[in-house]
Amino acid sequence: MPRSAPARAPITSPAAATVFTTVLTEGPVSRVDVARRTGLSAAAVTKAARPFIEAGYLEELASEGRTAPGAGRPANPLAIRPDREYFVGVKITGDDLIGVVTDLRADVRAGAHHALASHDVGHVVQALADLVGELLTGTLRERAYCLGIAVSGDVDRASGVVRYSPFLGWRDVPLAELLEEATGLTVTLENDVKALAVAEQWFGEGVGASSFALVTVGTGIGSALVVNGGLVRGAHGVAGEIGHVPVADGGPSCHCGGQGCVEAIASTEAILTRARQVTGEPGLSMDDAVTRARGGDEPLREVFAGAGHAIGLGLAALVNLFGPERVVVSGEGVATYDLFEDQIRRTFAVQAFGSAARCGLVIRPLPFEEWARGAAAVAVQSLFASDSV
Ligand SMILES: [Zn+2]
Repeated sequence: MPRSAPARAPITSPAAATVFTTVLTEGPVSRVDVARRTGLSAAAVTKAARPFIEAGYLEELASEGRTAPGAGRPANPLAIRPDREYFVGVKITGDDLIGVVTDLRADVRAGAHHALASHDVGHVVQALADLVGELLTGTLRERAYCLGIAVSGDVDRASGVVRYSPFLGWRDVPLAELLEEATGLTVTLENDVKALAVAEQWFGEGVGASSFALVTVGTGIGSALVVNGGLVRGAHGVAGEIGHVPVADGGPSCHCGGQGCVEAIASTEAILTRARQVTGEPGLSMDDAVTRARGGDEPLREVFAGAGHAIGLGLAALVNLFGPERVVVSGEGVATYDLFEDQIRRTFAVQAFGSAARCGLVIRPLPFEEWARGAAAVAVQSLFASDSV
């Protein structure tokens, strides 16, 4: 059973959640500004903020002598106290566990890493419990109540069940329940790309945007969509599968059973397969392919450009359908981004319809620890009620 958390954030109403989220993601911010941004009255903001101040989650900063328009007294900005509570986040891959402890603003305070000897559920649960024990020492342990877990595949956040994880070979594993017993923490499970999107929505490029999309490029190609502040899950939990948007009629076969999917052309494995074909070198490594492409090997440069074109088509489809303000493209594949960025941008510019082309495209690498931070952001989010639309 999760250990009791007597001093948890006192989120008791939708207004309390709104005020707390606004200060968490956009603070320090005055009550008047919170009221303006949320549509609540200044009195409602003050009422909602008081229990958080009393419980130590929020504080009132000293007035800077400014007087808010229409208010008779100086505006004291509200700010989060990030060290009031800590959160553990762990990303499970097929090979290892990557864990972090973050504060309330998802800033990383500690990190650790364990190799996985097997995918046996009992072994993974024990390894996770050991990792959590290693991460949580001293003050971190005293103020940590929540554990977020990010895993690729089909994950049912509401029930805490991993429905299907190809990398782990799991079906219908009640991981949240098993981990709550093993760690005493409240556990939230999330699909890894969706977890990253939560971190981005609250603490990254998504702050202040009503809609944005996160696209990850690497072993697989995934995306998560945030619309009107909520993560889009879709009726069947698979909304945003940009990797399986078909972009080449008659193109290579995809492991999903389809043909010409973005992932069948632009995943790391697909790029390597194509690179081996065009060079006629079955033993070619990805590192060598990258080095030679950077050195000007034209056929290999075309392989990467082809991947960039497929990603650009997928992005254009996403943007034409959903019209997000911004798209963040990230993932381990982005380390070689110099080889396909131009083509992604060019294809996107041609295919994005009308003013959809104004959508900002942010492209950046993704350190592996960032996935674990995403899991911690999901744990922060578990303070609140439902997040999805
Ligand atoms: Zn596919």
